[in-house]
Amino acid sequence: MIDFQNIIEGIHKELKDEMNRGLVASYIPELSNIDAQNFGIHVKHMNGKSYAIGQWNVPFSIQSISKALSLALALPIYKESIWERVDVEPSGNPFNHLTLLELENGIPRNPFINAGAIAIADMLVSHFDNPKQAFLEYVRDLANDQSITFNYDVARSERQTGFGNFAAANLLKSFHNLENDVDEVLDLYFHQCSIEMTCEQLSNAFFMFANHGKCLQQKQHLTQSQAKRINAIMLTCGFYDEAGEFAFEVGLPGKSGVGGGIIALLPNHFTITIWSPGLNEKGNSLLGMKALEQFTTKTKLSIF
Ligand code: GLN
Repeated sequence: MIDFQNIIEGIHKELKDEMNRGLVASYIPELSNIDAQNFGIHVKHMNGKSYAIGQWNVPFSIQSISKALSLALALPIYKESIWERVDVEPSGNPFNHLTLLELENGIPRNPFINAGAIAIADMLVSHFDNPKQAFLEYVRDLANDQSITFNYDVARSERQTGFGNFAAANLLKSFHNLENDVDEVLDLYFHQCSIEMTCEQLSNAFFMFANHGKCLQQKQHLTQSQAKRINAIMLTCGFYDEAGEFAFEVGLPGKSGVGGGIIALLPNHFTITIWSPGLNEKGNSLLGMKALEQFTTKTKLSIF
């Protein structure tokens, strides 16, 4: 049996005092004020055991990690018709780029670039009477933790600075790929990004992707095929224009956010969440990438 606790302790010890830890996101004050020294790791194994070190129990802004969960909520509702409105190809572009969206007639390359996640948010707004509450309850359910909530200051700041996201939503609308009002859809999008979770809560919420669609409480949220598809999109698109590098270095499906969180998983084995708020130039956690590379190297566990 692999000694996961020993391995993550070793990685934490080696990286925790690293001088080069990237830059925390600076586009809103709530993120730019976060201490870059935070560094937490949490592993949830399929056998039920957990392993953790550092600031694994401090809530942080999940940001784009929420895009995997909104896709998971929308997929069983819309099934295959989802792919008529959002494609599943890596974009090779930063998460907020719009050029391809115009060239490709308003069909976002994948559900994890901002435009794609906004199209998914639109589907949730069409389906639910209170989409923000429905999404929050879904996340609470998955993590089995009712304390998870939005950070309303973050949501407000996202809105005040979200010109690119307004542009993306308007472009989608102009191509008839947005059913609802731009404001209403972005209200959900900004709130989903603002949710705060700990490493442990994220490892628990993503458990279903490693468990063929069944969450920690053994409820079947996704079919096996739906879980497989979302894992495939996490592998090819979870890290924007660094998805190739992440597959190359780490070899796991995963999703990052500009709050500095990365969740990755190996089906049938474990989920792992790392939080280190300093980002590299692609917007992914710098230490998070390094720690995961070491983790899959030391455990010899990856999809490859
Ligand atoms: N809220 C951020 C945005 O929409 C999320 C980006 C991210 O985490 N990559 O720009």
